[in-house]
Amino acid sequence: MNKIQMKTPLVEMDGDEMTRIIWQKLKDILILPYVDLKTKYYDLGLENREKTKDQITVDSAEATKKYGVAVKCATITPNAARMSEYNLTNMWKSPNGTIRAILDGTVFRAPILVKGVTPYIPTWTKPITVARHAYGDVYKNVEMVVEKGSKAELLVTKPDGSTETALIHDFKGDGIIQGLHNLDESISSFARACFNFGLDTKQDVWFSTKDTISKKYDHRFKDIFAEIFENEYKEKFEKAGIEFFYTLIDDAVARVIRSNGGFIWACKNYDGDVMSDMIATAYGSLAMMTSVLVSPDGIYEYEAAHGTVQRHYYKHLKGEETSTNSVATLFAWTGALRKRGELDNTPELEEFADKLEKSVIETIESGIMTGDLYLISTLENKKKVSTTEFLEAVNETLQKYI
Ligand code: NAP
Ligand code: MG
Repeated sequence: MNKIQMKTPLVEMDGDEMTRIIWQKLKDILILPYVDLKTKYYDLGLENREKTKDQITVDSAEATKKYGVAVKCATITPNAARMSEYNLTNMWKSPNGTIRAILDGTVFRAPILVKGVTPYIPTWTKPITVARHAYGDVYKNVEMVVEKGSKAELLVTKPDGSTETALIHDFKGDGIIQGLHNLDESISSFARACFNFGLDTKQDVWFSTKDTISKKYDHRFKDIFAEIFENEYKEKFEKAGIEFFYTLIDDAVARVIRSNGGFIWACKNYDGDVMSDMIATAYGSLAMMTSVLVSPDGIYEYEAAHGTVQRHYYKHLKGEETSTNSVATLFAWTGALRKRGELDNTPELEEFADKLEKSVIETIESGIMTGDLYLISTLENKKKVSTTEFLEAVNETLQKYI
């Protein structure tokens, strides 16, 4: 059989623990036999991040800027326990945070739907994609504990040296204050990333904030979205037959619950953090969630939404059989291969990605699944298989389409 040729390499970011094991297996079983895989390989495993003083993470993000599409394995974000476990000289920062800062992106998360796994909201028959702004607000806050009798003010020193102040509160009792900020430029790239993703996936874009209460801060988000839509996207949306609409977050929540899914919900940083966890849970499983970071200049980094599945890895190290779900990692690969195919005009690669995704879903719907899905699936003929058996079963299904 002739393998599918690639014109441009993918940036491949390897990772840690159980997902690193899955990474190698899924390449061996489902990709290398069919695709003449070209990648620029970066080992973001914690040992190599330590060895390179985390330079490898920066290099991989720079390579992503150069080549345009990356696929990333889950990685450990070190904490105190990991410092001693891996003998680290430094508590290296979250690779996702580092990559996001370099690519200046928005994160889109969407569930993968299969028959037998019913969302907790049964009317959600189509996926809901949460687009999370990944800069500023409470994630870059400044906070203080304030003593009774204090007066807190907002003070801005302007470029010409003049100042503007506003009273926050006259404290008659002990309390707390918090300072937040965001940047027009970051909000603008967030808006463009959402509109581009809507066009890319032919889905409506919803945006919600609390602009009735936050008349300057949240209102600025609303205005920037409206202006960019009007000037740059309105006609493209009309042509694509999709819509953009803004609504208050309270109203958005009510509409989301009553909806059938099938749209992109753009959220501010904190809203997106919380809502994406809620949506993932409501759809059934974090292992069935795709995640892609899209930069305003059209650079894509695909990954799974879950972590390195540490507990399964320790079982694996003891030689015990695992039943870890590889679907989100597989869809990171198919997403990246499809995007590469689209950008390079290699339709065979796009078709391969489609067929592989179809095979994954068909395999699960035929009753073959890993333990996490086995617990929640309503299929009568369901059967729990190991990590490797699942990948082999997908390969068997794939034969029908190749
Ligand atoms: P996790 O790896 O997502 O796992 C949490 C639990 O969810 C697992 O113990 C497992 O439950 C279940 N689970 C998650 N993915 C699964 C899969 N593919 N198949 C089956 N079950 C799955 O989160 P964590 O344990 O909080 O974090 C572990 C490490 O991952 C940490 O070092 C963290 O820094 C890192 N992390 C990385 C990323 C990323 O790179 N994107 C994201 C989050 C966390 P059971 O054990 O009950 O089976
Ligand atoms: Mg969260």
